[in-house]
Formats: sequence, structure tokens, C-alpha cells
Amino acid sequence: MESKIDIRTLSVDEIADILKKWDEKPFRAKQIYEWLWKFSVRNFEDMTNLSLELRQRLNEYFEIRGLKTVTTQKSADTTIKCAFRLFDGKIIEGVLIPTPTRMTACVSSQVGCSLNCKFCATGYLKRERNLDAGEIYDQVIELNKVAIENYGIPLSNIVYMGMGEPMLNYHNVLKSVEHLTSEQGLGMASKRITVSTSGIAKMIMKLADDNVKFNLALSLHEADNIKRSAIMPINDSNPLEELQTALQYFYSKTKNQITLEYVVINNTNDSVEDALNVVKFASKIPKVKVNLIEYNPIDNAEFKASDIKKMERFASILKEHDVLAVIRRSRGKDIDAACGQLANKTK
Ligand code: SAH
Ligand code: SF4
Repeated sequence: MESKIDIRTLSVDEIADILKKWDEKPFRAKQIYEWLWKFSVRNFEDMTNLSLELRQRLNEYFEIRGLKTVTTQKSADTTIKCAFRLFDGKIIEGVLIPTPTRMTACVSSQVGCSLNCKFCATGYLKRERNLDAGEIYDQVIELNKVAIENYGIPLSNIVYMGMGEPMLNYHNVLKSVEHLTSEQGLGMASKRITVSTSGIAKMIMKLADDNVKFNLALSLHEADNIKRSAIMPINDSNPLEELQTALQYFYSKTKNQITLEYVVINNTNDSVEDALNVVKFASKIPKVKVNLIEYNPIDNAEFKASDIKKMERFASILKEHDVLAVIRRSRGKDIDAACGQLANKTK
């Protein structure tokens, strides 16, 4: 049997076109859309302001794909990791990260990742497919429920820093942001959303041309081309000069906040020279902020975290050269929920 169309792949206008053919009133499209996105119903039966006949007809032609939370693990430091099963059985992960001032959801954009960064657990998984906008959106909905159930506080921020490379799933990532920010969706402020990329210059330029309103994070991790390529093969085709130009362009067009993520790895990217290279890279990008992230050990690689003294030395070199830098301690390590540890393992 041919499978039904997932109604959440349709826009409100496309739904309206179908309703017109069915001789239904146009405003029904908006009602359906709100049920699907604002209220996240997973059954046409639950769309109680529609006639029974319309609900049955929708059910005949369409399905509503949803994801199922299969495991929820809570870390000693309050981080919570959820594994979600997609309609085709594939598993992805999302993480809730509470801090005193924020309740952040970290979501995945692909099943696996094609980019093979040497320090990242997801990079050792094969990229199986892109997530669609609904699958990204649903992770936020589920993590919001987890936040309220566990801490009584809804999400305040969303970061696209889970599994996968968002810029290689551009269309669906942008569509998911649209749903998160739209009044018919979650109505979230764009400024509370950050999309992270390993650095695909062409797509950063496209974000600028599309005049996106969310913040951008670049996973820098090294500011010398030869050394960066050794840990991030994507750098071969997207060298630092191109990334710098792309970020300057992004800022000039959008004025949105840009963050440079820098996982500090012992004797790999934590020398004084490495820090000075970061200064060179960062000082040409307006209003930029550098997050120095503690490296989380992964099974596949031999890297070690730098000790806090070296991280502090790195941070002070940046600060001495007027580059804003913050050290971020790792969260959720005991349940493999920390950045770069997402690899579908349950402990
Ligand atoms: N693909 C995107 C988004 C997902 S990765 C990107 O690379 O930006 C999310 C963040 O976790 C990135 O900054 C990534 O570099 C970082 N990360 C990867 N492996 C890590 C590890 N072992 N320890 C700490 N952070 C890691
Ligand atoms: Fe993919 Fe990002 Fe991990 Fe690199 S760091 S392998 S781009 S998920």
C-alpha cells in the first residue's frame, strides 16, 4: 500500500488548496495548522473544532508523523538526555540543559553526520538521513515537556548542537526555525535560537542572504588551516579565510550574534600559538564571542581534555587581545549527553 502523505510537510496554503477542493471553508486550514504545530496533536480525531466528516477525510489521505521518546536519562548535574525514535525506526538524541538563568534544548538536525570531525562521537556514525522540519520541531516540544515536568520551567533557549550538521540540511533547519518562531507554532523569539555549524562558507553566506534572525555559532576548534584540517576534514574545502569572509558577510547583513566554539584539547589546540591564531581569526569579526569548551572524552579517539590552568591561560590570551572569551564546563558527561558525545548509547 502506498504510504499516506505526512500532513506536516504541507504549508498552511497547501492545506487550504486541498480544503478548497473538498468544499471546506478556508479558515479551516489555519485551524488544522494550529492543531498540528501550536498544539502538537498526533491524531486527526483530536482536532475537535472540525467536523467528524472532515477529520475522517483527513485521516484517509494523510498521516501525522511524530517521534516517540524511548529513553530519558538524567545526569547528576540535572542535564537530561532523551533518545527519540523516528517514524522509520531510526534513533536520534536531544538534550535538556538547565542552568540558573536558562533552560536550553539542544536538538539534532540529522541522523548521524557525514563530516567526521575527529573529536566528535557523532562524526564516527554514518550519516543516514536528514531530519525533516517536524522531526526537529518535535524534539523541542518533547524537551519542553521534560523541562516542565522535571523543573517546572519551560524552555528559554534552543541550540542546534545535537547530532548532524545543520547547514547540510539547510531547508529543513530553516523551516523548523520558522515553526518555532511563528505565532502558529511556539512563538519563540529568534534571538533565543542558535544554529551551530562546523563551517560551510557557502551556506553561511546563504543564511545572510536569507536574512535569518537567529544567532550563529561556528565550531572553530583551531585557527590554523593545516591543524584545523587534521581534526576537521571539512576545513579542506572550507578554509579559515573563506569562513572569516562568510562570517563578516553574515554579520554585515544580519547584525546577529556570532559565537566561536572552541573545544580545548590537550596538546592539540591549546598552545599559546593556537590562542594567538584564534585572536587573529576572531578580531576581524565584529561583536564575536569565543566559548572555550571542555573536551568530553569519546570512545573512538585518544584526545584528552586540557586542564583548567591551560584553559585559563588560553582565555587570558584572548582577553588580553580584546577578544571576549568564556570558559564553559561540560554538562551531562556521566550520561554521554555532553557536546560531541551523542552517539545513541544508553548507559
Ligand atoms: N555539526 C554542528 C553542530 C553539532 S556539533 C557543529 O559541528 O557545529 C555541536 C558542538 O559540539 C560543536 O561545537 C562541536 O564541535 C562540539 N563537540 C564535538 N565533539 C565534542 C567533544 N568531544 N567534546 C566537546 N565538544 C564537542
Ligand atoms: Fe558532525 Fe558537528 Fe560532530 Fe563535526 S562536530 S562530526 S560536524 S556533528
